[in-house]
Amino acid sequence: MEDRKTELAANLATVEARIAAACAASGRDRGEVTLIVVTKTYPADDVRLLRELGVRQVAENRDQDAAPKAASCKDLSLIWHFVGQLQTNKVRSVVSYADVVQSVDRLKLVSALSAAAVRAEREPVCLIQVALDAESGARGSRGGVAPDGVEELAAAVAGAPGLRLGGLMTVAPLAGEYAGRPAAAFERLRDISSRLRADHPAATMVSAGMSADLEDAVTAGATHVRVGTAVLGDRPRLG
Ligand SMILES: *Cc1c(COP(=O)(O)O)cnc(C)c1O
Repeated sequence: MEDRKTELAANLATVEARIAAACAASGRDRGEVTLIVVTKTYPADDVRLLRELGVRQVAENRDQDAAPKAASCKDLSLIWHFVGQLQTNKVRSVVSYADVVQSVDRLKLVSALSAAAVRAEREPVCLIQVALDAESGARGSRGGVAPDGVEELAAAVAGAPGLRLGGLMTVAPLAGEYAGRPAAAFERLRDISSRLRADHPAATMVSAGMSADLEDAVTAGATHVRVGTAVLGDRPRLG
């Protein structure tokens, strides 16, 4: 346990140094970027150690794993982000523990989230997940709405009882014109965010960047980076 804590502390320090360096290089204040540690596939004990090391925000991508983990870490006052593809039949469970749902990508999900939030008297922040590799109308394999669908979804979230529109999320595409070009992908997300904020000034969150590309995301104005392996280590393949 102490060994694991030492390992996590060292990894966190490395990630923190990377974020700080990327902020400095792009003239941004370190306080503009929030680190979210993606704890998927790792046990609640690791979440507890991370909390002791100062982590305040964690993310999960599967409700089956996240729900019991969040329940067993209820005393830690963490902010829980849900970042996985979300089936409407999981919405009630996710709304019970998630403070932020980052993977909102279709209208049906907005109405399901709204109904669940009202019923549970919760008010989750919702991010629209943008699929930069999606053709108009189509969704990428990892979820997300095409850029031309953002406006309609954002308006739906903004008008939905129980939901707060926070901003945008993306995962750098593995295919299409942005494959292997995370910096270009995150610049595109920045443009989409500017347009969104013209209509929704409070929707300032830009969640982009993971272990491999967090510097590119910070350079392109990300407010939140989602880092898993660089903090916790390599996941088993199924994660
Ligand atoms: C797993 C995951 C991450 C973290 O990825 P790493 O490469 O482990 O840092 C970030 N965002 C989403 C949506 C994920 O599913």
